[in-house]
Amino acid sequence: MSAMIEIENLSVIFGEDENARYAVDDVSLCIEQGQTFGLVGESGSGKSTILRALTGLVPSICKSIRMAGQIVKTPREAGFYRRVQMVFQDPYDSLHPRQTVWAQLMEPARIHKLPDAENRGLAVLSAVGLGRVHRWRYPHQLSGGQRQRIAIARALMLEPDILLLDEPTSALDVSVQAEILNLLCDLQDQRGLTYLMVSHDLGVIAHMCQSIAVMQNGKLVEQLGVHALTHGQAQNAYTRRLLAASEAFGEEPPVTDFQEKPASTALESHVA
Ligand code: ADP
Ligand code: MG
Repeated sequence: MSAMIEIENLSVIFGEDENARYAVDDVSLCIEQGQTFGLVGESGSGKSTILRALTGLVPSICKSIRMAGQIVKTPREAGFYRRVQMVFQDPYDSLHPRQTVWAQLMEPARIHKLPDAENRGLAVLSAVGLGRVHRWRYPHQLSGGQRQRIAIARALMLEPDILLLDEPTSALDVSVQAEILNLLCDLQDQRGLTYLMVSHDLGVIAHMCQSIAVMQNGKLVEQLGVHALTHGQAQNAYTRRLLAASEAFGEEPPVTDFQEKPASTALESHVA
């Protein structure tokens, strides 16, 4: 396997002088091509800030960021956004309420001057399991799961290599969460995508991820493989506390069938 994303010594500081605070404190990560890398940790630990720093949405200090071996420049070049796209927790944050689905699918193609936008639009709609008829809808005319499918479809318009997934299912009902996670798995298989996924749900992480980094107060406190996570081999005390607080873990094997996953594996209610 080769490294798709390598982050060396990333820090993000919010505020100035005596109010300055490290939201991300000297984090290094390496994500292999085609894998799903999970970021876990309590609310406010800096997970979303890592994704935003990676996309250049917040200023950061960093020794280097490499994508497929190439140094990522600051400010990010247009080509970066063709390769890296983000999906947010709540599609209402990323979809425009007064534009049709179609207008929103066409927008990235227009910005990046892609030929063949209409065929791409129809192809991504189908790839996320929606029909042509959905393209004339507005976000409020869709269910939560359908909206998240549209957000994913829009992210796919540019045929990226990497999706940054910030709690992509935590705003959805449990049964719908399962559909969206399965869709993400299918898309990854079909397109060889690399995922960096934030979740506070260890059941989701165990199902989706091969590698996991645990964040606490802006620091990466432990990095481990999914096997170590699900077989009680976590070393760090904080990781062990997260695991103990999660009903998905303990003596039981990891959750693999989302249809039967209890709604209450969310960690934030236990540990935040
Ligand atoms: P998480 O995603 O793990 O819940 P975040 O990355 O959103 O955490 O936030 C990490 C810390 O940085 C929190 O204390 C949050 O309040 C702070 N923070 C996030 N964004 C900003 C911002 N734009 N300005 C100031 N502080 C911020
Ligand atoms: Mg967050």
